[in-house]
Amino acid sequence: MSECIFCKIGKKEIPAEVVGEDARTLAFLDIHPKAPGHTVIIPKAHCETLIDLPEEEMRPLFAMAKRLDEILVRALRADGMTIGINQGKAAGQAVPHFHLHLMPRFAGDGGSSVHGIVLNPPRETIAEIAAQIRKVAGINQP
Ligand code: AMP
Ligand code: ZN
Repeated sequence: MSECIFCKIGKKEIPAEVVGEDARTLAFLDIHPKAPGHTVIIPKAHCETLIDLPEEEMRPLFAMAKRLDEILVRALRADGMTIGINQGKAAGQAVPHFHLHLMPRFAGDGGSSVHGIVLNPPRETIAEIAAQIRKVAGINQP
């Protein structure tokens, strides 16, 4: 994926404000920050979604998220953190290279929670939806 912008940032072919790095992951500040310290964390190896993310990439990626969560709170005196993944065009994913967003939150910052992202409650009952999911998951109601 030579044209992928996050692959290029991962390979240091284009600049970014790096705030964390290890052999497999890179954390850098979002170029259009929605909050002070808005950080993007990527696996250096290209994949598009959580579904494509190899198992061996999971631990380093979430370890980096945990480390940056703590560092951002300390460095910027944040009161909380919104941690998110936009997956797929319908969910607003603009860069098709898997990434986590860490958005430091501050009391009274005017933002909302993940509950405000979508308003599309199902017409079916929760039990009907659960049955559909369990069928694909291959599990029975415990
Ligand atoms: P999304 O794919 O919608 O989850 O978000 C992609 C994010 O990447 C956006 O918030 C962009 O502002 C950010 N972004 C795009 N290009 C760059 C870049 N060159 N450096 C840093 N952040 C970027
Ligand atoms: Zn990529």
